[in-house]
Amino acid sequence: MKQRYWILLGISLITLAACGNSQEKQTSESNSQSSQTLASSNSSQEVASSSTQAEADTSSSSEASQAGQVSQDAAYNGSYYYVEGKYGPVIIVNKKHPLASSYAPGEDPTALASFLELLANMQAQGFAVSNQYSGFRSYETQASLYQNYVNQDGQANADRYSARPGYSEHQTGLAFDLIDTAGNLLTEPTACQWLAQHAHEYGFVVRYLEGKEASTGYMPESWHIRYVGQEATEIYQSGLTLEEYYGVEGGDYAQ
Ligand SMILES: [Zn+2]
Repeated sequence: MKQRYWILLGISLITLAACGNSQEKQTSESNSQSSQTLASSNSSQEVASSSTQAEADTSSSSEASQAGQVSQDAAYNGSYYYVEGKYGPVIIVNKKHPLASSYAPGEDPTALASFLELLANMQAQGFAVSNQYSGFRSYETQASLYQNYVNQDGQANADRYSARPGYSEHQTGLAFDLIDTAGNLLTEPTACQWLAQHAHEYGFVVRYLEGKEASTGYMPESWHIRYVGQEATEIYQSGLTLEEYYGVEGGDYAQ
């Protein structure tokens, strides 16, 4: 019961912040060229080679498809940590893998276009999902958000639902929070169940799963989705968290 209280409190607090910076977003990016690569387009040599291989020869991709079992260290490029996914580099952000404070790519155009399609589909089906959403957040925005939560809740509690500056997946421009038509983070069960089962069709994974706090470092968030591109389907079907699937370290902050 105590946990439930914190979840609800977390939701209401985050929602206030999420609403504040989400309004202007939806009109700005209607002309998104889809650049095929994930947000990690900075390091693109590997993307090209592995996607060609995947198209040409399905049998050779079986090595890569065992990513779920293989443990690999995330590499760091000065801005973010990443692993080599089946279709290209995949950015890893969690409490063990922070971003550089200067890293501010804005919303990834490919991820945003896909997110807006998902949103439109949910609305067409009658789910009470708003056009508002919370996407890219700068290091500075996250810093003030997090500090507010710490001031209200104490650091230990804040750490369970809000990332410290530099540790938020929203800073990559690949993460989006869905907001319901009442302005709250999306928790309505049927909508969340649809999202959990279909986000992968749009290249997204629901990032913070039930019962996986030890792996992800966060309490479950039915509303937070992360763009990973084509491999989202394999990740979804594995039932694993991003950390488990790629065999990278997660969980709590290194003290
Ligand atoms: Zn989020």
